[in-house]
Order: sequence, then structure tokens, then C-alpha cells
Amino acid sequence: MKELMMNWAISILALVCCTAGQAAATTGGADTIYFGGDIVTVTDAQPTVQALAVKDGKIVDVGDRTSINAKHKGAKTRMVDLAGKTLLPGFLDAHSHYISSLTVANQANLYPPPSGPAKDPASIIAALKKFVADNKIPKGALIQGYGYDENVMPSGHQLNRDDLDAAFPDNPVLVQHVSMHGAVLNSAAMKKFGLSSATQTPPGGVIVRKPGTNDPYGLIMETAYLPVIEQMPQPTREQEIERTRKGQMLYAAAGITTAQEGATHAADLEIMKRATAAGANIIDVVSLPFITDLDKIVAANPVSGWGKYDHGLKIGGVKITIDGSPQGKTAFFTKPYLTGGPGGEKDWRGELTFPQDTVNQMVKRVYDMGVPLYLHANGDGAIDAFFKAHEFAAAGDLSKDRHVTIIHAQFTRKDQLDKYVQYKITPSFYTLHTYYFAEAHIANRGKDQAMYISPMRDAIDKGLRPTNHTDFVVAPLDQMFMLWSAVNRISRAGAVIGADQRVTPMEGLKAMTINVARQYGEQDSKGSLEVGKRADLVILDRNPLKVDRMAIKDIKVVETIKDGKTIYSAAGGH
Ligand SMILES: [Zn+2]
Repeated sequence: MKELMMNWAISILALVCCTAGQAAATTGGADTIYFGGDIVTVTDAQPTVQALAVKDGKIVDVGDRTSINAKHKGAKTRMVDLAGKTLLPGFLDAHSHYISSLTVANQANLYPPPSGPAKDPASIIAALKKFVADNKIPKGALIQGYGYDENVMPSGHQLNRDDLDAAFPDNPVLVQHVSMHGAVLNSAAMKKFGLSSATQTPPGGVIVRKPGTNDPYGLIMETAYLPVIEQMPQPTREQEIERTRKGQMLYAAAGITTAQEGATHAADLEIMKRATAAGANIIDVVSLPFITDLDKIVAANPVSGWGKYDHGLKIGGVKITIDGSPQGKTAFFTKPYLTGGPGGEKDWRGELTFPQDTVNQMVKRVYDMGVPLYLHANGDGAIDAFFKAHEFAAAGDLSKDRHVTIIHAQFTRKDQLDKYVQYKITPSFYTLHTYYFAEAHIANRGKDQAMYISPMRDAIDKGLRPTNHTDFVVAPLDQMFMLWSAVNRISRAGAVIGADQRVTPMEGLKAMTINVARQYGEQDSKGSLEVGKRADLVILDRNPLKVDRMAIKDIKVVETIKDGKTIYSAAGGH
């Protein structure tokens, strides 16, 4: 009774003192008030504030410290002193492959520097040995790593079966290629998955053999790798839940509070639904059913239920892929590759994944369903093919907002940006390629086209609201490195890749927060620090708007907060 009266007294007091404020005082005080560091709202009206109040998982006020304290500091309010650190909206992942996080969470990180330790075969062995020791992997159990990139190994020193056998004679070892389309296996793993000198290389496959012999020795890729994938041990129901938590922690540790499953197959959606039902989600996940599995998924998940979260899982649209990757020379261009095709083809322009008629019908089907479309297109030829499909499928009203995002859009021509504006298509760019693959793009596509990859500056200047993504696991979940790449555009070899397409740190931040919220139709609840939005937050050790632009990549995530609760802390104890 006494407490009730006190609450009542406080609320009367609060009402009296703060009628001029924009946000009402909270009854009984806020749950948490953040202060003592820069609070970057990612809004134009009030870009930086001194304090932010949270109650019941929502932002109840932002503004100056004195007024926030006066309105919202109650007896039980937790006061969080940022101590000079920076608070921002939690990052929203514009495109990645969330389902892969469930497997890589149980594997050793073998990305090359700066994303991992794997600069040569010796460092790969060392990282695997540490992983085995840290995870107490017993003799005989399968050891897996991910992120192996043979392109950055010192020349002539690619990882092979002998390297792995010498270090791991008693365990099968599988080192996955960064593309996830192949792996290097040791002898025990080859035995386990039925690979031997008698194994023929299937059409569309690659099996690197030991020189002078027929023994599989290094990378096994594409169709030759499919039988290995099919034999991979499936997780138990308990493991699904454990891996969901571990996988989502990879996102949380990167400051991400909303992730994308960017090409969901029916079986994967079932795993995600079971984990959701078991209460395993710690962040939000947007699932995009892949067009090839659409019938199956719609049959089990009627479209009427799409577009809303169920305990952290939402089906958010359909994914269609219409070409490949520029570094793999499978992206579809209007002009030939300078270096020929992947198999030495002359005048090679790449190919559409499906014939134009099929693309037209697929796009029409998604538009007719009335759900968002996410379309993968990298080459300018594929982007033209998508415009044709749009003109076919949206014939009645070409400029209606159908919530269409073009994923990667890397080799967009300048004239194609105008079509994005006209057709209300949002490009989700991939500026990390200016670092990872610029040298390959310059060789394959020429300097002019390579310099114009992911033209974020021109897109923003034309009024578009582009997003930016990692395509994890193709590139690591490192949002500050992604921001750094959008702001600086510097290649692995140190060359500036299209200085005129650099964006400001604030524009780069919008491409990973508010613009992504808009991409998901969630701009009213996420993506900026405004009253009424969910308290999805990230604390960084430094302010990306204030540090030297080259230092953005060194900024660390200190804490990640979802709906007002800490889900990750760099200090441990999440
Ligand atoms: Zn992708």
C-alpha cells in the first residue's frame, strides 16, 4: 500500500514537473538510464544526445541528462555510466546466411587476417590445435574449420592432406572453403566420406590431386563436394537449440540485434521454428524462403502469417538468385570478362541462373503474393534482366513500392541507379568487396568498372537509402570493418577503390541501422534511438563518427542489448 502511494506521488510529481517535455515521465521510473558517453541516435533531428531511458524493453526518452534524470530516475532505476563509450542502435544485418552460423559456431575460425589467424598452412594447423584443446574434442571426433581461402596462401603453399594428417592422425578433419562450396579433408575424413583415388571428378566439380598421383590432396569443390555435405552428421534436437544460441551469439557479439537468413530452405526453416518454439532466440531473425523451396514453405507456412515476429522469428519475403559471383566469374554482365570464363571460355559474360522467362514468372509470383522480394544480382546484365522481369511483373504500376531489395547490386551501372529510383528498388551493397576482391575485379572487369563497385555515394545522392551487408559466412560478421570499407574503400593490396563513392561515417551507419529497418518494414520500431522504439542497442568502445576514419575498423563492440536486456558483454557474463 505504501509503495503504491509512493508511485502515485512520484507520477503526480513527474506530471507537474515535466509537461513541456516531449516524452511523458515514466511511472515508477525507467528500468535503465544510459549516460556518460556519446549517444548516437542516427536521426538527423537530434544526432547525438546525452542520455537515454529504457522501460519495459522500449526507449521511453532521449535527450539531455538533467531532464532525463528528472523525468525518469526512480528508486529502482539502473544508472549505466557509459564512461566515455558510445551507445548506438543495435545493428541490423541487411544480408547474411544466418543458418550457417549454427554450424560455424562449432568450428574453428580459419579466415585469413585480418578476420582470422589463417595466413598459411602452419597457422591453420595451429588454430585447429587450439580449437581442439579449447573444446576438448576427443580422439576420433570430426574436427571442422571454416573460412579457408586458398587465394591468400603464400604461393605454392596451399593446405593439403599431408599437412592435416601429420597434425591430426586420429581425427577426421574438414577445413571448409570460404565459399562454403568445398573443403580440404585429411585421410581420416576422406575415409569417413568415401573419397579415394578411385573417386572420379564429376562434371562441375573439382578434386585437387597429389602431383603425379590420383590421390585427392587439397580442395574438393562444387559438385564433387556435394556427397560430403549430404553425409554430414545432422544435429540432434538438443544440439539444434544449443547451436541456435551459439550461432546467435556470433551476431550478438558483432552488435547485431536483427539477423537475416538470406536463402532459407524448407528443412532449415523447420530447425528455426523448433528452436523458436523452444525459446532459444536471443535476437530477431528475418527468414527469406528461397524460391526453389517456396511451394513447400508456403504449404507449411501460409502467407497470412508472414511479416510478423513469433518470439524472434519472422518470414520476411522471398529470395530469388539470378546470377553468381563476380570473383567466381559467374556473375552475368553485358560485356565479356577480360580474363575469360572460369573454364577458360572466350567472350564469357557469365549466365543468368534461370532463363529470362523463368525469372519473369518468379518475380511475378512474388509480387502477386504481396510479400517483399529480395533478389540476388551482381552483374549489370543480371540487373538489366531483373528490370525486364519487373516491367513484366509490375506492368500495371512500375513505380509502386513493392518492398524490393536487390542483394549485392555490386556492378550496378550509373544509369541503373535511376531505374532503382523510378522502380523503388533498394540496393543492398557489399562494400567489403573493395577490400577482399578488388584486385580480382580489376583483373576480370577492368579498372573503371571495378572502381564503381557498390556505388553507395551516387545511390545516396540520387535519394536512395542503400543498405550494406557482410553476406556472412562469405565475409566475417564484422560490422565495424564493413563500415570502414564503405567509408574508406581500400583494397587488401592498399589501393583506393573508387574514392568518389566513399560515404561519410554517418551515411555508412545508416546503411547498417535505419535503412535496414526500412528494408524490413520495421522503421517504426527499430534502426534509430527514438521514443517508442525497441531498446535494441549496442555499446562501442569508441565513436565511429569521431575517430580517425582509418581507425573505424579497430572499434570494438563492448555490449549488445536486445529489448532492454544485455545479451552480450565483451567482459563476459552475458
Ligand atoms: Zn548471400
